[in-house]
This record gives sequence, structure tokens and C-alpha cells, in this order.
Amino acid sequence: MMRLPRFEHLFPTTVKEACILLDQFGPKARILAGGTDLFVALKLKNIQSSHLISLKGMKELKGMNYQEKEGLKIGAMTPLHQVRKDPFIMEHYQALAQAAAVVGSPQIQRMGTLGGNLCLNTRCFFYNQSSKWRKHRSVCLKMGGDVCHVISKGKKCLAVFSGDTGPALIALGAKAKLTSSKGVRWITVKDLYTGDGKEPIALDANEILTEIQLPPITEQISTYLKYRIRGSIDFPLVGVAAKIAFNARWDTCVETKLVVNAVGPAPVEVREAEPFLKNSLLSHEVIRKAADMAVAVAHPVANIDSTPTYRRTMAGILTQKALEELIKQSHLQG
Ligand SMILES: Cc1cc2nc3c(=O)[nH]c(=O)nc-3n(C[C@H](O)[C@H](O)[C@H](O)COP(=O)(O)OP(=O)(O)OC[C@H]3O[C@@H](n4cnc5c(N)ncnc54)[C@H](O)[C@@H]3O)c2cc1C
Repeated sequence: MMRLPRFEHLFPTTVKEACILLDQFGPKARILAGGTDLFVALKLKNIQSSHLISLKGMKELKGMNYQEKEGLKIGAMTPLHQVRKDPFIMEHYQALAQAAAVVGSPQIQRMGTLGGNLCLNTRCFFYNQSSKWRKHRSVCLKMGGDVCHVISKGKKCLAVFSGDTGPALIALGAKAKLTSSKGVRWITVKDLYTGDGKEPIALDANEILTEIQLPPITEQISTYLKYRIRGSIDFPLVGVAAKIAFNARWDTCVETKLVVNAVGPAPVEVREAEPFLKNSLLSHEVIRKAADMAVAVAHPVANIDSTPTYRRTMAGILTQKALEELIKQSHLQG
């Protein structure tokens, strides 16, 4: 049986108090949200922490609020099951509701939070193993060593970002509010990801993700499709988030965003497809070419339970499916 190591459990009741504790304990401390990933990492000894700063008691970080000018604000501690079931999100920010609905299992969505899902650590076949398993190999880049077991002589950690809601929020143009004792800064959700598997989240050690803000609703629809081995509970082998914004008559695409997930240390935008799809008739041929563009930006390596070639192929198939689905829905709106 794997046991949790000893740690001190701290329960601040305000963000201000939590920031003071983060400053006090520095890198030894970790933010605890739902704990569905953090406790596993502690048990596997992937990370060490002497102090866990729980955000559970903070009402100010839970719930959501829509205003016409500012859009939708969601507190970082809002549970994923609330995000997936919210009628407003389901109607206007479909990709987010769909992504939250496929995170792990219903139990994980009850405990897991939107903030925790966005700040999820990257995963690798050689890292997410017990310390006993790992000790038979030299220490990898992700664990602080200088070896990569995936790419020999690799100098950069390529562990995979597998959080489901991040790509959906990138496609929807969301921003993240980061709070520390020094104040507040906003970054795009896209910029939350560094692209380095070892340190994948662009938060300073003393910062807390406190809120996510989505732009006001317009004539747009979005979706998130995920491929995983076990449909009932599994991380993505590939995911694709897609958004199309239409003109007021719902007959012309004015903006698209495509984001491929779980093919590298950060979600990958399919930039080339944006001008290509804009103002197009979104014919079958155009969609197929956009899917090829998604395959071209996906560079998975052999670090999770599937072959890189298969995951690249699936990136194209999911992109095609996602765009076809959105076009079908736009006909219903128009
Ligand atoms: C069996 C299993 C299956 C899973 N399947 C999936 C899946 O399919 N898709 C998926 O996306 N995830 C999956 N997960 C991972 C995880 O359960 C979810 O990502 C969950 O949403 C994490 O949220 P949490 O609130 O529990 O985060 P925690 O575990 O509490 O925290 C995760 C990380 O984020 C940091 N953190 C949390 N909140 C904040 C904050 N507000 N500010 C700064 N840092 C913060 C923590 O310090 C920690 O490093 C799975 C986990 C398990 C055990």
C-alpha cells in the first residue's frame, strides 16, 4: 500500500491569508484544491511537500457570475461537476462543459476543481510510477535528473499535458487571474502553459490561480472531443477543442480556433488553420485540409500508453469530427 507522507495541512479562509502562507513556507508548500492529482503525486513520491495550503474553505473562489461587458467569471475552486452541469455554460461555452464532463470520472469531477485541472502537472510513462519502479532507472529530467527515458540524449522534458479543460478554455479565449501577496496579474490561459514538461505551469511559486474569465457570448459554438482508452475513466490520448464564431446570420465563419491536447507538454494551437477557415464555406475539402494542419502540429512522442503515429492520426480524425459537428449545429442556429 502506498502511504501519504507526513505534511502539515493548513486551512486559510481568505486568499490573502493563503498568499501569506505561501510566502512564509516558500517552495516547501503546495496549493491543495480537490487533491485528486496532488495526493496521488505525493503517494508516488513524484513531489515532496511539507505544507499543503488548502483552498477548500474559500467561498470567494467558488461559483460563477456572468456580466454582459466582462463575460463569465468562474472561481478557481468551482468543482468540475458544477461546470459541466451549468445550463449557461452548456448553452454558450459548450467546449468547456464538454471538457469538464470527460475529466476522469464523476467522482473526480465532484472533488476536482477547474483551477486544479488547469494547473495539472504533466504526465509521462516513466514519471507516473511508484518510487520503487522508478529506482531501477536513472533519475529523469522531470524528477530533477539529467536523463530522458523517452528520447535518449533528450535535453528537454517532454512529459505530456493532459488536463482536459485547458484546451477548451484556450479555444474560447479565456484569461486567468493570478494572485500573490504582490497583487494580481492576468494572463491568457494559453500563456499559463510554458511548453516545458518539467515546469509546465507558468505560475510563480507564490501565485495562486484565483479566477478564470471567458469573453462575453457572441454567435459562436464550440466543442471538445477526447480519445481515451477507457471511456469511463482515463486521461486523454488526444483531445481537440474547436470553436467557430459566425456572423449574425450564422452563415459565414468569422473566426476559428483549434487546439490539440495531450500531444506535448502544452496544448497546441493549429494557427495555420485560422486564416484558412476564416470566411470559407467550410466545405468537406476545407475541413479535411484543416484536419491535416492539426496532424502537422501534433508531435507526440512515446511517453504515454499509445503510439505517436496513432495519436497523430487521431488528432486529424478528431479535428475533422469536431468541425463537422460544429457546422451541423450552426445550420440549426441559422
Ligand atoms: C484516476 C484518475 C483519472 C484522471 N483522469 C483525468 C482526466 O481524464 N482528465 C484530466 O484533465 N484530469 C484527470 N485526472 C487528474 C485530476 O484528477 C484532475 O485534473 C482534477 O481536475 C485536478 O483538480 P484538483 O482540484 O483535484 O487539483 P489538485 O490535485 O488539488 O491540484 C493539482 C495541481 O494543481 C495545483 N493547484 C490546484 N489549484 C490551484 C490553484 N487554484 N492555484 C495554483 N495551483 C493550484 C496543485 O498545487 C497541484 O499541483 C485524473 C486523476 C485520477 C486520479
